Parts: sequence; structure tokens; C-alpha cells
Amino acid sequence: MLLVYFGTDLIATWGLNLQFGVTGVLNFAYIVDLAVGAYAYALMTLGPSSASGGFQSYFIGFKVSPALALVVAVLAGMAMGGVLSLIGLRRLRPDYQAVALLVVSIVTVTIVEADQGIVNGYPGLTLIPNPLGGFGPNGSGWGYVVLVLGLAAVGYLVMRQLTDTPFGRTLRAVRDDEVAARGIGKNVVWLRAVVQIVGGGFAALSGALLAGFIGAWSPGAWQYVETISLLSAVIVGGMGNNIGVMLGTALVPVLIQQGAQYVPSISGQPGLAEDFSWVILGVLIVVFIWFRPQGVVPERRPRYAFARGRRQPQADPPATAAPEPSAAAAAALPALRLVERRRAEPQAADRPLLEVHDLVVQFGGVRAVDHATCAVEAGQITGLIGPNGAGKSTLINAVSGFVRPSGGHVTFAGKDITAHSAERRAGVGLVRTFQLPRLFPRLSVIENLLVAVPNQRAETAVGVLGGRFYWGGEEEASLGTARELLRIFELEQKADEMAGTLSGGQQRMLEVTRALMTDPRLLLLDEPLAGLSPRWSEILEQALVQLRARGLTMVLVEHELGIVDRICDTVVVMAQGSVLATGQMAALRAQEEVQAAYVIG
Ligand code: ADP
Ligand code: MG
Repeated sequence: MLLVYFGTDLIATWGLNLQFGVTGVLNFAYIVDLAVGAYAYALMTLGPSSASGGFQSYFIGFKVSPALALVVAVLAGMAMGGVLSLIGLRRLRPDYQAVALLVVSIVTVTIVEADQGIVNGYPGLTLIPNPLGGFGPNGSGWGYVVLVLGLAAVGYLVMRQLTDTPFGRTLRAVRDDEVAARGIGKNVVWLRAVVQIVGGGFAALSGALLAGFIGAWSPGAWQYVETISLLSAVIVGGMGNNIGVMLGTALVPVLIQQGAQYVPSISGQPGLAEDFSWVILGVLIVVFIWFRPQGVVPERRPRYAFARGRRQPQADPPATAAPEPSAAAAAALPALRLVERRRAEPQAADRPLLEVHDLVVQFGGVRAVDHATCAVEAGQITGLIGPNGAGKSTLINAVSGFVRPSGGHVTFAGKDITAHSAERRAGVGLVRTFQLPRLFPRLSVIENLLVAVPNQRAETAVGVLGGRFYWGGEEEASLGTARELLRIFELEQKADEMAGTLSGGQQRMLEVTRALMTDPRLLLLDEPLAGLSPRWSEILEQALVQLRARGLTMVLVEHELGIVDRICDTVVVMAQGSVLATGQMAALRAQEEVQAAYVIG
């Protein structure tokens, strides 16, 4: 009954695809979730340990209906997934986290093998009732195929809500660049936990159905290499693509591995075909990662071409024919409703929007920021200048929550936020761009904008369950804003291209645009104009002036003093980690210290 193996493997590989293919969580303990489901189902159906004549022992046993047992198994797997996600809480580096999970997998199976009292140790459990009645692999024949494939179909519908929706887009953003995802306010730790929990449920359902089918379950079935077998289906089929993973599942675990059992034993060595199948599997993984990392069926991104734009009131101006970019920006920006919402939020009237007090950031022996004190007035563009290595980027990192200061305070809108996480700061409108642009390379350009919309309905549990009815309207509105921004920043031709294919200047432009999409209150821009073509430089400069007129507060790190002269209200000069001077550019030019810093730098 290869079809049963196909169905159960499929449920498992979809769950793993959610974790690894979509969200980038490399869960080497995935098979433990699956085993938890299998044991939970067994314990719920076998009845008390003493009743089975004492030939197998386990710590607890019930006899409930198979349907209830399946539900309990899924819940147990979700709980296990939740436990595994705790490993990610400490923000371990992703590769260390993967190793930690591998260790968990090996340790768990070793303990269960060794201790007869938990679930009968190494020999495992037998006589597990089939959910449809009867025992053994041929117990219920085609009925079981229908049951498994039916549940797989339901699983697919659930999975689609999670992966091929705005929620899935957020998960993919976490996969593509965790730091950038936090920068636009996504709670990465929580999202990782969600996919561990949901994926754990899928794994457990798979395990329970498998145990019920075989009628037995032992540690031999869930060695850590089984995770790798499932992983190979995801890698070969196509990471992040449910249909691709289905193909990969048919190909790898089912055909190659289960099929190995049907190969007549060669030269009298019974285990040879099976061992050989592991070799094939290993080679396949390497070949695919090397030559076709996207898999047989690559991830597809939805297209939002500008065809609909024709129906909108403003016709797209021909990109090359517009002689006056400032005019284009001036006409277009007032249409944005971005900034107004934040401006309406309460703020202590007589205090600066951002205050940095006596801030110290230390890297080993280097004081990158050395007792810096400065402030950013609401509604202004504050320039941040200084020679290379002065500590400008580090100051921005500390203010936005990406590095921990070893001393001092950061106050935003009257609240001390020194201890807040980066995502929490982004959530209250303190948003930054990076000196080296950080995009989500495997999302399209327009998706990079859509994903940045804060507090999306589609990111809530109701949104995932309720589907398009609940979030469709909001998504449509966001799409309108995103199109408008792409048009202003002359990126509309690139809308459906992967962000990873953009040139350096385009990436920088897109990153600023994405930051605007978060509806910021204070925007920290780390050299946004560096490397831009003169035309884009002009567009962006004009846009910043426009945004200030709409009430957006900004900090601008910039080397070109001419630009600082033109658009900054106040300027903070840094050198060697300290704030050297603060004031208007014209006055600062005259100061000897400032001149000296620039000559030395
Ligand atoms: P700027 O942006 O003004 O050019 P940076 O903030 O990037 O300056 O760097 C300030 C100082 O801190 C430099 O001496 C730099 O070498 C050091 N620095 C920055 N980031 C790190 C880091 N992650 N680890 C160690 N040193 C760093
Ligand atoms: Mg810098």
C-alpha cells in the first residue's frame, strides 16, 4: 500500500515545508513530533498497560475512539512543537539551533529506547488498533487509503491558508532576512513558534496514521535520519511550494525508500537495497542543493502586474519622458495617507520625539558610541554626519534596537525604550533602513512592500482561519498604496520581479519605500542616497522634503554635505563615537572642531 505511505509522508513533508521551506526553520527534531503523534495515538487506543497481558509496558493507557485518539495525537504533536520552539527563544544562531534540535532528536530516541517503562523501550508498541478496525498493514485496505488521502486533502487546504496568503508572505520574509523582518516590526520568535506548533500537529497526524496502519511503532521508525528523508522531499520537490513538495514526496521517501523494500535482495544481503536507497537520497540532496536549489517545482510568487492601474484615476506617466522628477513626486506624494495616522498620536508637546542620553556601545575594546547625547525634534529632518567609523551606523543600530548599548538611555515619544526589542520599536513607528540594504530577496518587489504593512488582519489567527473574506479588503488597500509608492519611486516596472535581482541602487530605493510602507513616525535612514543615480537621488531628496511637510520626522545619515545643507533642519556631527557638535549646518561649517574631524576622517 504505497498510497498510504505517500499520504502520511505527504502530511509530514507539508508540515516540514511550512517550517523549513517557507519559514526557514531547520527543525532536525521534526521526527520527534511525528513520533509523539504515533505514541499518543497508540496510548489512547491500546487500553491500560496491564490489560495487554504484560508483554508490553507503557506509562499510561486509554481506550478511546480512534477519532478522538487522532485529535489527541495532533494536540500532543502541537505541544511538542511548542516545546521545541523554546529552543529558539534564546535567539540562538539558526545553525546552532539546528544542531541543538538534532541533539534533542538523538537524545529523545535514545531515552525512549533505553527506558522500557515509558513506551516499551527498544521493541516498541504493537497491536495498535487500526482507526478503521482490524490490525496490520492490510487491515482495512482501500478504506485506509481513502482516509489518509482525505485527511491529506484537508491538510492541504489548511496549509494553503498558511503558506499561500499574506501570512505565508510574512513567514517567507522571516526566512529571507530575519533582521529585516524585525526591522519592519515582525515578531520573529513568535512566528517561528507558530510554525513549530502547527508543523508539529501535521507531523503528529502523520505519525498517528502511520502507527495505526502498521499496527506497531518503535524507536527504529523515528531515528533522526528520517527527518532528513522528509527534508530531501522538500529540497528535491521545491522549497516553499506545496505542490512541488507533493512531487518530491512521491519521488523520494515513497518511491526510493519504501520502494527499496520491494527490490529483491541482491546477492543474499537483505539490507542492501535499503542502505543503497539512503545513498541515493544523500546524493540527490547534494545534487539539488548544488545545481537546482529551488527544486523541481520552484516557489512561485503571485503577480500583481500594473494592468489594473489603468482603471485608477492617475495614468502612469512614461518613466523616461518625465523631465521634472520633483514635479512628479510633488504631485504624487500628497495622495499618500501614510504619515497622518502616526502624527495624530499623542506626544509630549515640549519634548523632542527622540532623545539619546549618554549612550555607550562597546564592541570588545572598541567604543563605537562613546557617551553620545543628542535629540531629534518632531517634524524635522535631522542630519547625522561624521567621518567613516564615527559611529553613525552603530548609533542608528542602538536607537532602533539592533545592538544593545552598555550604557545610557533612548527615549521615544516620552517613553524610555532602551530595553525594548527592535520589533517592538518598529511597532510604535521607530523604523530604520540599513546602510547595506536588507530586502527579502525571494519575495517580489511589490511583496516587499505589502509585507511591511503593520498589524495586518491576515497575520492574526482569525485572518488565517477566516481567509480572504477577513483580510481581502485590507490587502486591496495596501496594494493600492504599494502601487502608488512604486510609481512615485519609479520602480513600477520591477513590481513583479524578485527583489534579489535588483541592482544596488534599486535595492536601496526599495528599502526606503518599504520603510514608508510601515507607516513610520520616525524614520532613520542610514546613507539612503549613497550609490543612487542622480535621477533617483533627486526623486528621493524631493520625497524626503515632501514627507517632512506631511509631518514625518527623519534622521538622515549622509556624506554629501550639499544635500545636508539643502534639506536638514538640524545636524548632529559625530567623530570617534562622540557627538562633536549639534546645530545648523551653516553654523557648524564655521567650527574648527568640525572641520578638523572631516580632515582627519
Ligand atoms: P559609521 O557608520 O559612522 O561609519 P560605524 O558605526 O559603522 O561607523 O562604526 C563605528 C566603529 O565601530 C568603527 O570603528 C567600527 O569598526 C566599529 N564597529 C561597528 N560595528 C562593529 C561590530 N559589529 N563589531 C565590532 N566593531 C564594530
Ligand atoms: Mg555607517
